[in-house]
Amino acid sequence: MLKNILDKVDTKQKLTKEDLFFLLSLEKKEYIEALFQKAYEVKLKYVGNRVFFRGLIELSNICEKDCYYCGIRKNNANVERFLMPKEQAFKSAMWAYESNYGSIVFQAGEVKNKNFIRFITELLSDINKATNGNLAVTLSLGEQSKETLQAWYNAGARRYLLRIESSNEKLYSKLHPKDHSFSERLLCLKHLREIGYQVGTGVMIGFPSQKIEDMVEDICFFKENDIDMIGMGPYIVHNDTPFAKEAANMDMSGNLLLALKMIAVTRCYLLDVNIASTTALQALKPDGREDGLKAGANIIMPNVTETEYRASYKLYENKPCIDENSQMCKGCLERKISGLGEEIVYGKWGNSPHYTKRISSV
Ligand code: SAH
Ligand code: SF4
Repeated sequence: MLKNILDKVDTKQKLTKEDLFFLLSLEKKEYIEALFQKAYEVKLKYVGNRVFFRGLIELSNICEKDCYYCGIRKNNANVERFLMPKEQAFKSAMWAYESNYGSIVFQAGEVKNKNFIRFITELLSDINKATNGNLAVTLSLGEQSKETLQAWYNAGARRYLLRIESSNEKLYSKLHPKDHSFSERLLCLKHLREIGYQVGTGVMIGFPSQKIEDMVEDICFFKENDIDMIGMGPYIVHNDTPFAKEAANMDMSGNLLLALKMIAVTRCYLLDVNIASTTALQALKPDGREDGLKAGANIIMPNVTETEYRASYKLYENKPCIDENSQMCKGCLERKISGLGEEIVYGKWGNSPHYTKRISSV
């Protein structure tokens, strides 16, 4: 059965939802190894044994949203809030540029006021000017109006990450308070696409109430929405959140393996997208991000945030690399990745092949 399904991958025979379910449910070690091996072969064919870096800058932990799972949600009073000064954010971006990272990501809590919108627009313009448009900038700043997304695109942003968190609307409403809207999130993904961004989305894996069937639907959601980039990671408890109580009675020990299987099955189904091996994998296992690369991911986001801010940007417990600086993270990842026989590509944007194909076919 497993062989039959894996033989269908990357052929004209389409994997069915039952196939995806079967693969995500694998439990025997040798079967899971066979899945990872297949996903790795697909990755070699479509994106090569190459890893692209996106320098991650955690710009601000101020958030207007109250997602039940997240450590920097509005109602967590135990967080010391910060917004990085613009000069500091610029400096971190330039560090990444001078270190020959082709790309950076600005990530922050969701803020929609005029000052913040202007702050980001000016920051993008400054970076665009200083690098002659040679640094690919990704934003991960939550839901924003179409007007704002367009203004940021005009100022130089080219990619946007907005996880759907769960493609099942019922589960989405378990993860979020009532005033957080699933349809708003879908609309935002649609706007990103219309404006011309490379669109990234993803889900959390292994949160309370999520079933394998939901994960199958998540993968189909990525396909149906023609997504270019995927960022997924295991759900990890943050003690000061409402979800910590829900999660207390659950066994979370399988979340790392489940997340790796999700990466592998997504690679086998979507073939040519960029898939990030996210930091949350490393929070559960020191070499979790290397495991992600071996399961089919091809993107790593080394943290380039100034060390002083890192501990306050805590979405979940056990966040790694909070005492390190950007240079240490670079050296550490270079050693780990070359140990896997993968090549880090410097100085290139590393667009998702899926995006390149879809643009050239217009
Ligand atoms: N505010 C923006 C970007 C910051 S949050 C946004 O929400 O899009 C980035 C991602 O962190 C979220 O999409 C969510 O999937 C993830 N995240 C938050 N809390 C988490 C937790 N407890 N465990 C795992 N991932 C978490
Ligand atoms: Fe805010 Fe994003 Fe955390 Fe939700 S997941 S509370 S939007 S930072």
